[in-house]
Amino acid sequence: MEKEKNPGFLPPFSHFATQAIHVGQDPEQWNSLAVVPPISLSTTFKQRAPGEHSGFEYSRLGNPTRDCLEKAVAALDGAKHCLAFASGLAATVNITHLLKAGDTVVCTDDVYGGTNRFFQTIATQMGLKTILVDCTNLECLKAAITPETKLVWIETPTNPMLKVIDIQACADIVHKHKDALLAVDNTFMSAYFQRPLSLGADICMYSATKYMNGHSDVVMGLVSVNDDKVHEKLRFLQNSIGAVPSPFDCYLCNRGLKTLSVRMKQHFLNALAVARYLESDPRVEKVIFPGLPSHPQYELMKRQCTGCPGMLSFYIKGNLENASKFLKSIKLFTLAESLGGYESLAEHPAIMTHASVPKADREALGISDTLIRVSVGLEDLEDLLEDLDQALKAAVPDYTIRN
Ligand SMILES: *Cc1c(COP(=O)(O)O)cnc(C)c1O
Repeated sequence: MEKEKNPGFLPPFSHFATQAIHVGQDPEQWNSLAVVPPISLSTTFKQRAPGEHSGFEYSRLGNPTRDCLEKAVAALDGAKHCLAFASGLAATVNITHLLKAGDTVVCTDDVYGGTNRFFQTIATQMGLKTILVDCTNLECLKAAITPETKLVWIETPTNPMLKVIDIQACADIVHKHKDALLAVDNTFMSAYFQRPLSLGADICMYSATKYMNGHSDVVMGLVSVNDDKVHEKLRFLQNSIGAVPSPFDCYLCNRGLKTLSVRMKQHFLNALAVARYLESDPRVEKVIFPGLPSHPQYELMKRQCTGCPGMLSFYIKGNLENASKFLKSIKLFTLAESLGGYESLAEHPAIMTHASVPKADREALGISDTLIRVSVGLEDLEDLLEDLDQALKAAVPDYTIRN
C-alpha cells in the first residue's frame, strides 16, 4: 500500500504526520488548555517586573502563534530551529543579510524569477556579487566558487524546467570552502518529500505560500537551520529587519501543516497520472516530470527524495498560439501564477512567472513559447484528465486520434 503511494522513491520520513499534528501544539502551553493554538493578536506581553517576562515581550520579536508554527516546521525538517517571515522573498532577503558587501553569492541559473530579480538587482545594490551557474553541472559549481563566495543558493527541482540538483554533492563542494553556506529553496518539494538539512545543506528555505500552507490563502516564508550561530544571527535579522508574518497567517499555515502528508501523497499520485497521460498524447511534444523514468535525473530524485510534488511542465505541439489556446480552453485548471495549493493551476512561464528573466536567458534555459507549467491539485483525477483532453483538442486540432 505504502509502496504504491511512494512508487520507487525513498521511504517516507518516520513520524512525519504525527509531528506535523503534535509538535509545538501542546494544549498545556495555554491557560485555557486550547487544543487548537489560539491566534495570539496581542502585540505586547505583561512583565511581572522589568525584564521578568513569559518568554514573549513584543510580537515582532516573538509571538505565541508564530512559535507553534516554527516549532512544528523545525520538527518536519529534522532541524533544531525554524524562523517564519512575511514572505518567501523576505526569508531570502534575511538570509542574504548574513553576508556583507564584497561577498559573492553563487546561485543556480534556473531559479525562481523573484529570487533571480532580487539577487541581480537589490543584492547588487547591497554590494554583493551574484554569479549564476547551472548547479546540475557540479564542475560549473566548483569553478564558480571563490574565497569571496559566502552563500551558494540552489533550488531543486528548478522552476519551471524541473532540473534536479544533487544536494549532498553540492554540500560537499561548498563545505570545502571556509564560511560558505549552502541554502536550498525547498518550496517545490515541501518538508514531506525532501529534507535538505539531512543531505548536508546549512539552510532550508520555503515559500510557505505554496505547499507548506497549501491552501493559496497565505503569503509566508520559512527558514530551518541546525547551526546555533546561524540561527542566532537570523533571529537578530528577523527582529531587526521586521519582515514577520501576522499571527493570523501563522495560524493558517500551522493549520495547513496538519494535512501536509496526505496532501503531498495525493499531489504525487495525481501528478504522476497526469504526466503519464500527457506523455502519451500526440499533441504534446515533451513532458518534464521528475517522477517519470523519462526524466534525465529520475535516479537522483529517487535517491534524495521520498516522492514528487504536483509540479510538471510540458511543451505543447505548435507555437505560441497553440499554447495560448490551450490556456484559454482549460476550465477546471485555472490560468494563474503560483502553485502548491489544493486547486489545479496552469500558466505560461515565458509570459507570466518568468517574464522578469531576460529573454536570452529564458531561451537558453528552454523557457520557450510552447512551454506550459502545471500545478496539479487534489481534484478527482478523471476530471483533471477530461479537462486536459478537451483543452488539448481545442488547442491542437490537427491531432484528432489519440495513440
Ligand atoms: C513563490 C516562490 C518564492 C517566493 O516566495 P513568496 O512567498 O512569493 O515571496 C521563492 N521560491 C520559489 C521556488 C517559489 O515558488
